[in-house]
This record gives sequence, C-alpha cells and structure tokens, in this order.
Amino acid sequence: MDDQETNPAAPTALVTGSTRGIGKAIADRLRQRGVHVLTHGSGDGPAGRAQLSADLDDPAAPAQLWSDALAAVRAAGGKRIDILVNNAGLFDAAPIDLSDIAWLDAWDRTLRINLSSAAQLSRLAVRHWQEGGAGGRLVNIASRAAYRGDSPDHWHYAAAKSGLVAMGKTIARHYAGDGILAYTVCPGFVDTAMVGDGANARPDIGAAADLARDIPLGRVAEPEEIARIAAFCALDAPESMTGAVIDANGASFVR
Ligand code: NAD
Repeated sequence: MDDQETNPAAPTALVTGSTRGIGKAIADRLRQRGVHVLTHGSGDGPAGRAQLSADLDDPAAPAQLWSDALAAVRAAGGKRIDILVNNAGLFDAAPIDLSDIAWLDAWDRTLRINLSSAAQLSRLAVRHWQEGGAGGRLVNIASRAAYRGDSPDHWHYAAAKSGLVAMGKTIARHYAGDGILAYTVCPGFVDTAMVGDGANARPDIGAAADLARDIPLGRVAEPEEIARIAAFCALDAPESMTGAVIDANGASFVR
C-alpha cells in the first residue's frame, strides 16, 4: 500500500484475489480513483505480486488476512479499512460420478474459498465498521450462476455464489443503520484465466469466441467492465442502492 500521508483522506480498500483477472482490474480501477488499495493473493503465484498473501482454503486464513491488512494500513499511517471487495474465487469441477468423499471435499473447498472466507472477512469488516462508527462498503463478486445455475459439474459453485448474494442482502438489510452498505455484482462470462486456459480455467467451456454465441452482446465481458461496476459500488453508488445486485452478462441472462 502507498503511504497514506500522501492523501490521508482517501479511503482504503482490501480487494481479495487481486493478483490477476477481475480482482486486479478492480484494484487498478480503485487506485486510479485515488483509493489506497491492499492487494491479496493465495500465495501460490509469483512472489511479490500481492501485498498480502493468504490461502482462503484455510479456515484460519481470513482472520489472519484481516489482521495483516489492518497492520499494513496502520504501518502506512492510516486507521481503517473503508471498503472490502470479496472477489477471490475458484471454479473447480465436481462431476457427480466422483466418489462420495471426493465430491464432498470439492464442495467443502469451493464453499470455503468462494463463500465462507468471504463471510468471515465480511463479519470482521462489519465489526470494524461498527466500532469505527463511520460505516463502510462491502462489494461481493458473485456470478450469473447464482440465479441461472451452472454446469452439471458445478452445483457447488452456483450454490456458493447464491450464498454470497443472500449474505450481501442480509448484511445490507441489517447494518444500513450503521452506515454499512453492501452491493453484489453478478458477472456472466468474463475474459480471465477462469474462462481461458489458466490453471483455474473452466474445463467445460471453450475459447471466449465460442462463448460469445450465447451472448446477445456478441462477446464476453472484459475484467475492466466488472471493475467499473465494482468501483461504482465501492465509491459512488447511492446509499439507497444498498442491497442491490447488479448483473453484467451481455443480456445472456436477463431477469
Ligand atoms: P481468476 O482465476 O483469474 O482469479 C481468481 C483470483 O482468486 C486470483 O487472484 C486467485 O489468487 C484468487 N484465489 C483463488 N483461489 C484462492 C485461494 N484458495 N485463496 C486465496 N485466493 C484465491 O478468476 P476471475 O475470473 O478473475 O474471478 C474473480 C471472481 O469473479 C471470482 O469470484 C469468480 O467466481 C467471479 N466470476 C468470474 C467469472 C468469469 O467468467 N471469469 C464470471 C462470474 C464470476
């Protein structure tokens, strides 16, 4: 994080999974808007790419990440984290012909990384914002799958993303009086490693060009488009919009 003395009034954001893809685009966008950004990665990528490292598959990691993030803020002369963007996620397949234990393991891992860790971080953020008395903004990156469902190998992914949507709405409903606002973004396909040929890629789908056939807009979204929506939620969205879920899927799923 940059030195907060350069602009002590600027808000601070923690963006999970910001080493690449949508998370990196969100971090870049927020920085362009003057936000102090704390980046996070799973720790298995090239060293030094993220300021904070935590494998969110470990149930102890979210609390450690939050505490490391606060320590980094204070070391830079700041006092609080104003914005939490829960973006980290993975898209692992769990075909139904796996053994019972392997299928359950896949569910546990996806739920831990895509939902429980976001819940743990959100809980810590809500308590931090309640104690600080100045509110805060939560932005969850869910998915079109929350509403539309996903492939036969990804029941768990869709369920985790639905959970994220429900969690965001619950936080919005119960903490608005404390100035705590929660917004959820539901992208369709976005041109990242998750969709392309990266280690975290979807095995059930092809190149971005093939996906475009099912998208009236004629193309998958760019990470920067999702970042613009996330930055709007983090900085500009009217308070009365709290609890909103924003779709970004090129009209491939209109509800
Ligand atoms: P990506 O694979 O490019 O990036 C995922 C990020 O999550 C990385 O920074 C990675 O380090 C982090 N991450 C993964 N496992 C982790 C772990 N165990 N611990 C800590 N961090 C971990 O994917 P992306 O496309 O940029 O996806 C970002 C978010 O957007 C995810 O929540 C994803 O579900 C969601 N999303 C993506 C798409 C898409 O088509 N790409 C569509 C809808 C929603």
